[in-house]
This record gives sequence, C-alpha cells and structure tokens, in this order.
Amino acid sequence: MNETIDQLLAGPPLGVSEKELVDWIARLEEIKCTAEAVQAEAAVRLDEAARARQAAAGVPARKLGEGVASQIALARRVSPAKGAKLLGLAKILVTEMPHTFALMKAGLFSQWQATILARETACLSLEDRRVIDYQLCSPGPDGEPPAVVTMGLRQLENAAKKLAITLDQESVVARAANAEKDRRISVRPAPDTMTWLGALLPVKDGVAVFAALDQAAKAAQAAGDERTRGQVMADTLVDRVTGRDGVDAKPRIEVKIVMTADALANDSDQPAVVEGYGPVPATWAREALTDAEVFIRRLFTDPAGQLVAMESRSRKAPDGLAEFIAIRDGGICRTNGCDAPIRNVDHARRHADGGTTSAQNLQGLCERCNQAKEALGWQARPGPDGSIITITPTGHTYVSPPPDTWRPDPPPLSQAEFVLRDVLLDYDVAA
Ligand SMILES: [Zn+2]
Repeated sequence: MNETIDQLLAGPPLGVSEKELVDWIARLEEIKCTAEAVQAEAAVRLDEAARARQAAAGVPARKLGEGVASQIALARRVSPAKGAKLLGLAKILVTEMPHTFALMKAGLFSQWQATILARETACLSLEDRRVIDYQLCSPGPDGEPPAVVTMGLRQLENAAKKLAITLDQESVVARAANAEKDRRISVRPAPDTMTWLGALLPVKDGVAVFAALDQAAKAAQAAGDERTRGQVMADTLVDRVTGRDGVDAKPRIEVKIVMTADALANDSDQPAVVEGYGPVPATWAREALTDAEVFIRRLFTDPAGQLVAMESRSRKAPDGLAEFIAIRDGGICRTNGCDAPIRNVDHARRHADGGTTSAQNLQGLCERCNQAKEALGWQARPGPDGSIITITPTGHTYVSPPPDTWRPDPPPLSQAEFVLRDVLLDYDVAA
C-alpha cells in the first residue's frame, strides 16, 4: 500500500477487497503508533521550551516544568494525572529506551506496549533498563522486527519481568515490598446504578480473597444454589465485609444523598447524587431514603437562592459556599478530562487580581489542577453561563462547561432548593 496519510485517513474507497480493508486497518494502527511516538517527542520538546521560558522569567529551579503535564493533558483530552504519566513516559522513551522508541516510530509498537516496558524496568538501574531495551526491542541481524512486536501484552510483561529479575532480583523484590504500601480500595460508577468496587492488594491477599469467594461459590453450587458463580461471589463479598450475614454486629454506613427539594417531595425526575458515586435516579434515592434511618441537613434553605448569590469579602470561601461549590461541581474537578475528586475550592480569577469570592468565580479543583493553574502563564476566568475558561501559557483556551448535574432546567439553579441528606443506611434494612 502506497497511500498517503491523507488518503488513509479519508478511508478506503468503495469496492476494495477484504484484504485491503485489513491492510487499511493495520496501516492506520501503524500511523497511530507513529503518532504516539511523535507526540512523545513533542512533549519532551514542550517541556524543554517551557522550562527555558520559566527559567528566563526567574522561576525557581524546583518549580521549573510546572504546568507542562497539565497542558499535555488538556491537549490530549486526558486527566492531568495521565498527562504527567505521558510526559514521564515520553522522557524515558526519548532518553533511556531508544530501541523501544524506534519501534514506536516505525509504527510497530504502541504507547501502551512501551508503557509496560517502562513500568517493568522502572526499578532497575539505567544500565539494566538499557539492556532490556536492547534485548527486547532491537531488530534482528537482518533488520527484521523483534519478537516483542507480536507478543500479547501479558507475554510482553512477563518477558520484561523475567529479564528484570534476571538482571537485578534485589530491586524487583524491594519494589514489590514498597508497592505493598499502596494497597487500597476504590469505588467507581458502573452503568445501570451499579458500582465497580476495586481493591489493589498484595498478590497473596488478592488471590486469597478471590479464592475464598470462589470456594464459597463452589460450596453453594454443590448445595444446589441456583445463583451463578459470579452472583454468589459478589453476594458473599458483601455479606462478609458488611456483616450482613448476621455473624457480626450490623455496621452502620453513612451515605450522603443530595437532591432537590422538589425531587424529594414530588415525583420529579431530577436525578439525585450519591456522594462518591454520582447521579442516581430520583426514584432510587426516594426508595433508599424511606428504607433508611435518615439524618437531614438542609444545606440550602433559601428558595430564592440567597446563598448562591452570596459573596464573601474574605479570600477563603465560607463553609456553606465551599460545600455548595463542591456539590454543584458534582464532587469532580472542573478541569476538562480530569476526573479526580475535588480537594480545593478555588478562585477562577485570582483574588489578588480582583476575583470575587462568589459561586460564579469559584471552582472545585483537585490538588494537581489547583497547582497547575498557579504555574507561570496560566489564567482562568468565569464565563457568563457558569463555565470556567482556562487559558494556558501557549494561549490555548479550554472551556469547562457548567456541570450538568444541576443544569438549571427547571427549576433554575439560583432558585432551586437543595437538600443534603446525611443518611445512615442500616445495611440490614437497606438490603
Ligand atoms: Zn483536576
């Protein structure tokens, strides 16, 4: 195939063969890999240019490079945390893993494959990393591509792991011990009012938990239980952790549900929001509330929206206003592409530049985004419709639209009465 990139992107003409269609898909995959390599190169150059500009402006050495990862994140429409990872990977590829990078540029290795190699060699010395880069990714004697090109991801990971252990077992073990400190539990929304509950565990614990649940499933099925294996495992997990099976004392679990007064009182369909999960149907929320022991805290009692219009002369947002912002923004950082939880309620237009401490000029930001916007050359201002406009040092403008959790349609935001309910769900009752 000798098509130009423009021709490839225009799509295959009508009547081409299946083979040509497959070629087309493969060529486009190569272009994606090459594009990811060039993006990495550009990211490294952007980082260098920004550092030089900041240094010339007198920015202290420890702050050099601030905001670059966030610019990359905005440009690539990913979260800032992901932007930082991409920049880190780009630097590693360009400076430490030349063979891996060459494979990407040739369109034979994806960013994700390169990420696996970078990750698996992270604990090694630069020297050992270079050895693995050479052994896995350099071309054969006749210039043929190395085996990693056709390996599956797990295979690739195992190949790198094996080499790493061979070269420097001590580091691999030390790294594993260190990683144990990061064990944690997370919850994220799944479709249809479900959630994914995740656990990052040392492998022995993770496997043990899975095995225990698997055993419970097998025992249940042997006893004639008609639930699927997955269902028994899920139910057993909840039973054991919450004590719902009655063995332990019933735990009381606090859940915050936010809904409009209208949705609470009537059959209005305005969604409620469960803190830590996101929007749920109002009917679901009403049902949960009738089943639970409920502690009500009226957060915004003024139907005329006095609080919304309220301004403060102080730089720090008063508690009620800060809580309002956090709820208005859905608990999620306002930066485009970022889905980290809100850690700071901050001024869009800086207080020092005359920005007001008002709902319109305040935004909920995660820690990283809050820092990024303090970097040299970053600006933000509120838009007239509740949006937040961020201008990066290159002059690119990114508009964060008003969060649609509370889209004023109807009742208008300024007139809605929101009710925050601190709900103590007695697990036995709620189930
Ligand atoms: Zn953020």
